[in-house]
Amino acid sequence: MFWVDEICEDILKKYPEKDHFLIRDEKTPSGRVHVGSIRGVVIHGVIAQALREKGKQIRFIYEINDADPMDGLPIYLDPEKYKEHMGKPLKDVPSPEKGYENYAHFFAQEFIDVIHFMGFEPEIIFSSDLYKQGLYNEWIDFVLLHPNDIRRIYKEVSGSEKPETWNPLHVICEHCGKVGTTHVQKWDGKEVEYVCEPEMVRWAKGCGYHGKVSPYNGRGKFPWKVEWPVKWAALQVNIEGSGKDHNASGGSHEISEMICRNILKKPVPYNIPYEFFLISGAKMSSSKGLGIASKEISEMMPPEILRFLMIRTHFNQTIDFKPEGETIPRLFDRYDEVATEYFEGTTGNPDWKRIFYYSQLDPNHIVNRYRPRFSRIAFMLQIPHLNIEEEVAKLKGSPLTKEDLIELDMRVDFAKRWLEKYATEKEKFIIQEEFPEKARSLTSDQKQFLLDIVKLLEEKKREGEELHAAIHELRKQSPLQPKEAFQAIYLALLGKDSGPQAGWFLEALEKNFVIKRFRQVV
Ligand SMILES: [Zn+2]
Repeated sequence: MFWVDEICEDILKKYPEKDHFLIRDEKTPSGRVHVGSIRGVVIHGVIAQALREKGKQIRFIYEINDADPMDGLPIYLDPEKYKEHMGKPLKDVPSPEKGYENYAHFFAQEFIDVIHFMGFEPEIIFSSDLYKQGLYNEWIDFVLLHPNDIRRIYKEVSGSEKPETWNPLHVICEHCGKVGTTHVQKWDGKEVEYVCEPEMVRWAKGCGYHGKVSPYNGRGKFPWKVEWPVKWAALQVNIEGSGKDHNASGGSHEISEMICRNILKKPVPYNIPYEFFLISGAKMSSSKGLGIASKEISEMMPPEILRFLMIRTHFNQTIDFKPEGETIPRLFDRYDEVATEYFEGTTGNPDWKRIFYYSQLDPNHIVNRYRPRFSRIAFMLQIPHLNIEEEVAKLKGSPLTKEDLIELDMRVDFAKRWLEKYATEKEKFIIQEEFPEKARSLTSDQKQFLLDIVKLLEEKKREGEELHAAIHELRKQSPLQPKEAFQAIYLALLGKDSGPQAGWFLEALEKNFVIKRFRQVV
């Protein structure tokens, strides 16, 4: 069964009476949001969609953790400029660019744009607003009453030891504005006493201020392993998946579960522990600024293909994406296969239909279009003076419809981007207007092979596939190995050893040009 259906079935089995669900996901915008976070959005987004389709009322929220302290500096920002802000809530750090409320808004916005690009419309909420509204006030009281129990859970689950004076809350220092450096020492039921510690954390230096302040309405902030279960409890979250790193034994999810169940006495949301989305085998880090930002992958491919990339793999398997070389053309090919299955149902694989369905942005408007192979479009784009629309209509065998043209324009757009940024030398070629010097080194057998092709071209007009078969036939009759034979064609036209599929290539080029060039070589 397709994994989205599997999860839905399981949820409906676990909560048979329930007709309202709150689905939640979150991100701390400590820098450009990396591609890994896209996986969570897609998983929560399609589960929300699937449950809605089962007639359930769904509230899907995406929370931006802008109350979190700045605890690292991305490599693309100036350390001198940001040093003084380390330890402050992200919402109080200035935006790197003008026109944004603050640092958190700036980096969140880029990611929110990607969420919308993929066709998901969660309700976007900012943590600091919930703190300010007082949503967590009663939970602040609650955790400050149980510091020892929470400390014990940390120790039992993860082995991490907190000092006896530790309290599960930070407050924003009234003197320096930092939250990552404050140690709450006492609580009298109304106000907390705290010290802004110079040496508490590696990444920020507290100012040493000793103060007493009310922790409510945005002044206090939970450490995140306490904040997580408090959010589940306060917002009454029903479904919330999280990445593999949080779900290790003794990890943050286990601590949060224990606090939620045993201290807050609230149910733990249905978890979907999903695997990483890696780029070329590497895990990304927003705070260090490593790897590819989500915005960049959204510029590599259209939203349906990006959703497809996330959806076709079971949530418990790693997705490792290498943008260079043939990855993107192959991804399009696989997408075309599931599309064909969806519209024509030839393989009888029901999962493929579901994968295609959930890859679409608008399930109410799914249109069958002619889908020319991506690699073919990339190839056509490299041939001068070629009318791509005409060529694609020829491939289709009938004029292109309005919908076909939408598909074609999209593929042309992304094939251009691919050629510019991700295609390797092997996949790129330039027709040599001048006679390529390298072609002089061809053997007499290779030259004979080119002459035979000239005869073939002069004989009659053949379409790509037919021409390709005829060239293969010629090769078999010659003493040449396939590699040597095709090398002759590429050297003569491109000045390099390899190139696109020969039949299509020769058909797409101007016939007289090819004949003239092959004769020149001989
Ligand atoms: Zn301070």
